[in-house]
Amino acid sequence: MAQLSPHFSDSEFACKGVLPPPGVVVKLKKLCKVLEQLRILAGPLKITSGWRSPEHNASLKGSSKTSHHLTGEACDIQSDTLSPGQLAAMVLAIRANSTEMQGLVGEVLVEGMHLHLSIRLPFELMRDDRYA
Ligand SMILES: [Zn+2]
Repeated sequence: MAQLSPHFSDSEFACKGVLPPPGVVVKLKKLCKVLEQLRILAGPLKITSGWRSPEHNASLKGSSKTSHHLTGEACDIQSDTLSPGQLAAMVLAIRANSTEMQGLVGEVLVEGMHLHLSIRLPFELMRDDRYA
């Protein structure tokens, strides 16, 4: 197990017990930058779906072959005390208040009981498509 940021470890983003590979970890660390900001406002967050291996992603009904979960650029989260809509509003506030976060925050989608959050990557990381 390795820490990705002060409050998040790679095991929280594991897929069926398999830890995310190095190329994915690089991206998850960027994602965790946003999660750490959200955690300040929202408190502890549960990662309900982090990295997805290609095999697991393919087994999910209706999953996209280009899902950002495959690359470590997205996760689904829940809070014990806040609704996905409330979490979404917090992420939008975080994005609005910081230039760094404006460049980093991608999709913010309420999906049923959880919030899907993705990041946008700088060019050098986008070119790394080994896990796409
Ligand atoms: Zn998702």
